[in-house]
Amino acid sequence: AEPARDYIALPPRNLETFMAHIVILGAGTGGMPAAYEMRATLPREHRVTMINALPDFQFVPSNPWVAVGWRERAQVSFPIRPHLEKKGIEFIAQRVQRIDAPANALELADGTRVAYDYLVITTGPKLAFDEVPGAGPDANTLSICTYDHAEHAWGRYQEFLKNPGPAVIGAMPGASCFGPAYEFAFIFNKDLQRRKLRHKVPLTFVTSEPYIGHLGLGGVGDSKSMLESELRGIDAKWITNAKVTRVEPGRMFVTELDDAGQVKKEHELPFAYSMMLPAFKGVDAVAQVEGLCNPRGFVLIDEYQRSKKYKNIFSAGVCVAIPPVEATPVPTGAPKTGYMIETMVSAIVHNIAAELKGEAADTKATWNAICLADMGDTGAAFVALPQIPPRNVNWFKKGKWVHLAKIAFEKYFIRKMKTGSSEPIYEKVVMKALGIERLEAPR
Ligand code: FAD
Repeated sequence: AEPARDYIALPPRNLETFMAHIVILGAGTGGMPAAYEMRATLPREHRVTMINALPDFQFVPSNPWVAVGWRERAQVSFPIRPHLEKKGIEFIAQRVQRIDAPANALELADGTRVAYDYLVITTGPKLAFDEVPGAGPDANTLSICTYDHAEHAWGRYQEFLKNPGPAVIGAMPGASCFGPAYEFAFIFNKDLQRRKLRHKVPLTFVTSEPYIGHLGLGGVGDSKSMLESELRGIDAKWITNAKVTRVEPGRMFVTELDDAGQVKKEHELPFAYSMMLPAFKGVDAVAQVEGLCNPRGFVLIDEYQRSKKYKNIFSAGVCVAIPPVEATPVPTGAPKTGYMIETMVSAIVHNIAAELKGEAADTKATWNAICLADMGDTGAAFVALPQIPPRNVNWFKKGKWVHLAKIAFEKYFIRKMKTGSSEPIYEKVVMKALGIERLEAPR
């Protein structure tokens, strides 16, 4: 038998003649820009292929609007193939079942094997609804994590409008993505107000965060008092340090912990509508690769976005392992948001391009958090540079401009994904608009 190898590298090649095949796995917020930037950066002799489970791109940040009928599929989703092919990027619309990392190959749902020289994993999250019995869109709570979930939630919302009652919105134990839960609570409130039905809907925000505005980041600027004030402003109650233990039809069971992690109170919340963001894990095909991931299936990477075990595998986006900012009584994770994902993608492209030129991979991402959260007709923006406090930039601001900026961002991002522009949006547009310089974040 072959001795175990700690670090699996590509065999040595003659770079003068080497024509590399770079496969990007997952055409989401990270993967699509990665494909365009890779194609624009690498010489034409290298092949770039995108593999995605679905034939369509979905702009995930618009999903809260989809769930209240403010967006339809054609506005936030489009077929991937023509746009990639126009730029000389091959496209395979199939789920990858297995990554045979030692053999540098992928196995697709139809049994085909695709060989790669470099693999870029941008598979996003597996939604761990199963960690709370009775949770998830196949059971008793709704989700906005995918377009299909948001569309399903819109269907249920229309039924709910005929017979409104109590609503529970929030995030499950182990969640890391809190911004969209707040966003959805405010959008839900705004939509009900416009329909003059808000008075019929007692709203409770239930979150595993230790306090309102923690956001998986230990708070950002004055996010705690601002978001508390905003929730009070929409007459929402809240439960923090909330461990949802199970959900039954119309009833959520929540154990509230104190700061020391002891049980403070047991709640049984009746609801006519509930949207709860789940904890995330890594998708099965990625999680199953020996030595690639941490126990929750997130890819273990070094500072150059490269797998700690497989030298020719890089990873970006929600699927990479980053440590929580701090331990919390109910487990929470750190969010991976747009700017961070964009810099991860750019680092990967630079590093693979460098290696193909025979140079060392030396570009690092900046692990910073910038997020625009819509609140219906206003919004909140936060900037945390770096992610872990104390920070060089730490602010949280509210205003109508954020609502408009979020719509502009949606239009701009989708247009960029259709035209195949490889220009980084955050670096060139959002950071400039916010008056922020790129800061290298110490890890
Ligand atoms: P995704 O965009 O989820 O893409 C993953 C892709 O991989 C998908 O296309 C999927 O089909 C594909 N895939 C997975 N497994 C396989 C497989 N085995 N084979 C083939 N294909 C596979 N961040 C912000 O900065 N701003 C926001 O406003 C914002 N809003 C958000 C709203 C919601 C509802 C959510 C859930 C997250 C939001 N985020 C936001 C956080 C984050 O930016 C998004 O989750 C983002 O989509 C993550 O990008 P990604 O590329 O890592 O994964």
